Amino acid sequence: LFAGIQDAPLDPIMRLFEAFNADTRPGKLNLAIGVYTDAEGKVPRLRAVQEAERRWIDKALPKTYRPIEGTKPFRDAVQALLFGSGAAILGESRAATLQSVGGTGALKMGADVLARLKPGATVAVSDPTWENHRALFAQAGFTVVDYPYFSADTGGVDYGAMRAALERLPAGAIVVLHACCHNPTGADLTAEEWADLVPLMAERGLIPFLDIAYQGFGLGLDADAAPVRRFAESGQEFLVASSFSKSFSLYGERVGALTIVAADSSLRAKVEALAKRLVRASYSNPHTHGAAIVETVLTDPALRADWERELAEMRERIQAMRVRMADSLQQRHPDRGFAAIKVQKGMFSYTGLTPDEATRLREDHEVYALETGRVCVAALNAHNIDRVLDAIDAVARR
Ligand code: PMP
Repeated sequence: LFAGIQDAPLDPIMRLFEAFNADTRPGKLNLAIGVYTDAEGKVPRLRAVQEAERRWIDKALPKTYRPIEGTKPFRDAVQALLFGSGAAILGESRAATLQSVGGTGALKMGADVLARLKPGATVAVSDPTWENHRALFAQAGFTVVDYPYFSADTGGVDYGAMRAALERLPAGAIVVLHACCHNPTGADLTAEEWADLVPLMAERGLIPFLDIAYQGFGLGLDADAAPVRRFAESGQEFLVASSFSKSFSLYGERVGALTIVAADSSLRAKVEALAKRLVRASYSNPHTHGAAIVETVLTDPALRADWERELAEMRERIQAMRVRMADSLQQRHPDRGFAAIKVQKGMFSYTGLTPDEATRLREDHEVYALETGRVCVAALNAHNIDRVLDAIDAVARR
């Protein structure tokens, strides 16, 4: 039965993660991960999350099944977070939100829905993108291609090349777009580029699938969702995968949501019913605990305000690390383009380190970065940053 299975190599992040765990050197430092750590290098337990958890436990509710799509307050809160409270679309009943197993589960559920409606379609992902995008859409039966995105010359987006590639895609192709804080590069489209892209998608008959896994880590909760809001205002149909893993520091609780925006409320009802049918035959019902915590924080004004304060602290701490890293490395290596690190957004940056430099960083300095040069800026802090900068300086010198 199992003898014919082909070797399935782990993706590079998982491979490096295993190598890091097996490394016995005491000074090892992991900048290859996708987790925010605080000024003390710990994964934070957010105050509002802890309070919501205490309240939830005190209620001692029976552990019944949760609705397939999640509770209404959770779904409404997710929509308000995405579209902005008071947004016109909230009253139009054309957006369906379903609780998902993290952002990954939202992408998977969306992929399964689209596979029913557009079997064999092309899915275009940015070059580069989060490793799992390609695997996830390929596994759902799509042909996955990429569109040019990152410019190594500027450390930003090569929007001209991206636009030209999207114009060449066949109508009905699905385009995966990072709404903010692009993983792995940190390079985001400007507001003007989004303003150009949104109508282009509709004109070309392309299907936008927005991935928003870092809302609040770029410029702020509202500013980071601006592309989602622009699509909503355009009236076109699209999908959004939200993750609350980072913004609530709830990685292992697997809280996310898929939002499907249809042209009108009757189409919304049809696609929502399809998504629910697919979930029913997949894992039947979503979990309770993590989503209940997120729901409590988002709907209780005091907890919400405190969460927003702590999220801002995380965002500002990352930005401070970006500035220190960019300024120090730019000064030492003016020709390497390190200045882009402080313009890039979110938890990651493409630093421009070569695979060989990343290897020496790991072997000679115990600092783990991806071979692509991706570094998790959110894992830097006052205790480790000087050491990291000196190590990058040393490998860039040779
Ligand atoms: N999309 C992107 C761009 C991500 O970086 C991640 C997480 N690394 C996800 C989706 C998945 O998020 P989750 O951990 O909530 O499944």
